[in-house]
Amino acid sequence: MVKQTIQIFARVKPPVRKHQQGIYSIDEDEKLIPSLEIIVPRDLADGFVNNKRESYKFKFQRIFDQDANQETIFENIAKPVAESFLAGYNGTIFAYGQTGSGKTFTITGGAERYSDRGIIPRTLSYIFEQLQKDSSKIYTTHISYLEIYNECGHDLLDPRHEASSLEDLPKVTILEDPDQNIHLKNLSLHQATTEEEALNLLFLGDTNRMIAETPMNQASTRSHCIFTVHLSSKEPGSVTVRHAKLHLVDLAGSERVAKTGVGGHLLTEAKYINLSLHYLEQVIIALSEKHRSHIPYRNSMMTSVLRDSLGGNCMTTMIATLSLEKRNLDESISTCRFAQRVALIKNEAVLNEEIDPRLMIKRLQKEIQELKDELAMVTGEPRTEALTEAELLQLEKLITSFLEDQDPESRLEVGADMRKIHHCFHHLKKLLNDKKILGSSTVSSESKDQDCQPLKEDEYRKLQDILKQRDNEINILVNMLKKEKKKVQEALYLPAKDRREFRHSQNPPFPPGNPEEGQKLPLSSAPSQAQDFSTLGYRSSLLHRKTGMREEVSLGRQEAFEIFKRDHADSVTIDDNKQILKQRFSEAKALGESINEARSKIGHLKEEITQRHIQQVALGISENMAVPPMPDQQEEKLRSQLEEEKRRYKTMFTRLKALKVEIEHLQLLMDKAKVKLQKEFEVWWAEEAANLQVNSPAVNSLDHKKPFLQASDSQRELSQLLSNKSSGGWEVQGQGAGRFNACDVNARKILPSPCPSPQSQKQSSTSTPLEDSIPERPVSSIPLTGDSQTDSDILAFIKARERILQKKYVQLLCSLSPKPAVSSAQPSTNRKGLSDGWLDNLLNP
Ligand code: ADP
Ligand code: MG
Repeated sequence: MVKQTIQIFARVKPPVRKHQQGIYSIDEDEKLIPSLEIIVPRDLADGFVNNKRESYKFKFQRIFDQDANQETIFENIAKPVAESFLAGYNGTIFAYGQTGSGKTFTITGGAERYSDRGIIPRTLSYIFEQLQKDSSKIYTTHISYLEIYNECGHDLLDPRHEASSLEDLPKVTILEDPDQNIHLKNLSLHQATTEEEALNLLFLGDTNRMIAETPMNQASTRSHCIFTVHLSSKEPGSVTVRHAKLHLVDLAGSERVAKTGVGGHLLTEAKYINLSLHYLEQVIIALSEKHRSHIPYRNSMMTSVLRDSLGGNCMTTMIATLSLEKRNLDESISTCRFAQRVALIKNEAVLNEEIDPRLMIKRLQKEIQELKDELAMVTGEPRTEALTEAELLQLEKLITSFLEDQDPESRLEVGADMRKIHHCFHHLKKLLNDKKILGSSTVSSESKDQDCQPLKEDEYRKLQDILKQRDNEINILVNMLKKEKKKVQEALYLPAKDRREFRHSQNPPFPPGNPEEGQKLPLSSAPSQAQDFSTLGYRSSLLHRKTGMREEVSLGRQEAFEIFKRDHADSVTIDDNKQILKQRFSEAKALGESINEARSKIGHLKEEITQRHIQQVALGISENMAVPPMPDQQEEKLRSQLEEEKRRYKTMFTRLKALKVEIEHLQLLMDKAKVKLQKEFEVWWAEEAANLQVNSPAVNSLDHKKPFLQASDSQRELSQLLSNKSSGGWEVQGQGAGRFNACDVNARKILPSPCPSPQSQKQSSTSTPLEDSIPERPVSSIPLTGDSQTDSDILAFIKARERILQKKYVQLLCSLSPKPAVSSAQPSTNRKGLSDGWLDNLLNP
């Protein structure tokens, strides 16, 4: 058992604006416990009321300043947790901080660079590397990915994400068994046998989450995400299975609604926007108070799920992410305060070992067989079955002849069979009672035999007792198994036939029994499923279905998309990554060629050495010498060349392997960016079409204003934004300011810069925004089809085109760029061929 308080770390994000100095300082030397001092400026700028304290000091295990890279974070924070996880302890790492402070960056990673990959991909990489090295145990790894939004749990890896929206999927709910273990109903578990499979699941979950997100449901800032790795390990032949869970948690933004204007109380009276974080704090407070018996875990889903990770059987680590800018000082102080409370909690991590009942039954059955064999040795023959009629008759005949035999030395020989011996006594008693007794001599001779019986009988009884005990044990274990099965069936209501469920708590993702055999159980049939939808086909079709992108896109729409893509800020990232990917590919290809060369060189050298050897031996024979007198220098030289070549081969092979991981990661990043882009295009297209429909003379030739005023707020906002587009540049709205304001509502939409103020929105809603900004062009001159959907598509296209022309992108429109190696229009269809073909072959010859 390992007793430990929750470890707390702080990470300071690089500021958006560089000139933010003197707000904090880090003292690393202070009695070896580093501390972070946040200095509140005395001025009242930004409406920041400060008449109480000047600076706040907080202690952390370690503080990572702006320049700390992802590798450092992994090495110092995640690696120790991953190590104890591999040893069989539960582990949790959670990031806590306001929106935009770097939680997702720390836990999952940045969306652009390979070097920005965060704790999850690095931990997966580390875990699989370690598992591969250890052949002493049989390991099984499963992944689950849960999102909690508004107290509702969503399975981010549910295969039905493909077909339905988040709301239509069954909610993940919490079940508690009589032992107060938490089970998560409707959360799927997917086996991952390699780093690549696990990484695919991570990206799949992230993509599902992004797709489900709407401006009204800002999942990325308001939901908690729990990525869990489940590991089972077992030594070959052992009946104990070890289970460990590793939760990697990206919490919702911790921002609070402050009671502004209350002098000096600003920092203490703020309330969380996210209610479940309030409950998390309640739990933390309760846990840090000594002698508190009741811990209010049940108040929220998140605290229930993390119950044994907060003040339980777990090695827990918290990362306080801080965006230390002037306007974020209050939030940063709250985050640090929360961390200080968390640091008081003591956890006791124990190894989760479990006896596998199926393996135990097998072992007991074997023992019984051994006992039976022993019994047979003592008693002569197996004696479970009753004696047959013929045997009984034979015995009685023997008894009769024995009794009739006048020889005092005569013996009744029935063999070492207790059944026969018993039957003989039984029969003799009967004869005696029937007064058919012959002579006293017979009885005395019989008593001789009887003398040696009690000993055997004793032994026999003992063995029978043991047998009975074992039988009982087996019965109990069989009942246990049955109950277990029933529980699983009850707990996991199966809405669809292919639904896979699992028990989240201490119960094995690993089916009881040895792993190979276990594959037959429904619990473990996840692997095939995981494979199914981590495949590329799944991803690309998901892209189409989820974004509403039709499989057959009209030319106009495609053209509009191409332009949209070109103007989109993300396309720079995609293009950059494409370039890097190209480089990596050519690097991999060159490396592959060198590897092949090295391989054939090794072959040649080996051949040469053999030849040389044969020559030497032949020479020796011809000169009548068994062994050449001197070590052959030529051969020595060849051998050292061979060693050198082998070393070179190994280095290149390792590099190629690392390249492969990088290539895969980059491809996943690009896939995700493309889905995002397409999703945003669809939103823009739909809004555009809706507005046009409303304003189109073909639809409404009388009143332009009225229907527009009836449009929803978001539509209105967007139209306003779109009408501004011609004057301002397009850009993706940057990170939120930490509060949910008008900008935040559209945080993931494409917005013109700068973000309009609430006033400007008001104005715009009363004017006629759309027509004003478009050059006069008779829309009605376009031939329409009469089908409203098609017409709106046509109109949207024409309008998009107008705008683009206005933005002087005509030249771009004409000069279609040459097709890149990895086309962004075809998300992931050709990547399998690129990476997994020759690269895989090379790596797994
Ligand atoms: P959160 O998840 O807390 O809301 P994000 O992780 O999304 O915040 O970070 C907000 C932005 O800041 C992202 O664009 C991210 O790439 C960037 N960012 C966060 N932390 C760092 C860091 N340590 N170094 C560089 N960029 C960072
Ligand atoms: Mg985030």
